[in-house]
Amino acid sequence: MILTTEFDCNDKVWSIYQSIKHNWGPCTFCGGEGKVTGKNGSKLICPSCYGTNRILLGNEYHWKVGDPTTIQEIHIKYSNERDISEEAYLCFDSIVSSGVLYPIDMLWPY
Ligand SMILES: [Zn+2]
Repeated sequence: MILTTEFDCNDKVWSIYQSIKHNWGPCTFCGGEGKVTGKNGSKLICPSCYGTNRILLGNEYHWKVGDPTTIQEIHIKYSNERDISEEAYLCFDSIVSSGVLYPIDMLWPY
């Protein structure tokens, strides 16, 4: 049985990952004060922003290119002798010593 993979061990590749940017704005319920005032004049923590003065307006998702990395292991699942149903690569980055398992869609040739 011969299975052909996109990359091989010791191939150098670029990894890509998705980052999230949170967009915050002033809390409209408390007017950005973090507290609300009751009829008796006492103040309580705002139930909308929990005293942080801000609320989450939305998120932006961006794809970013990581540092080049090297493939150490190939992980595949196959349904028969020719068709690979799942292909992933274990790479060791300087940040995570135990390695990161990347699906094939997140790697590009170096
Ligand atoms: Zn608030």
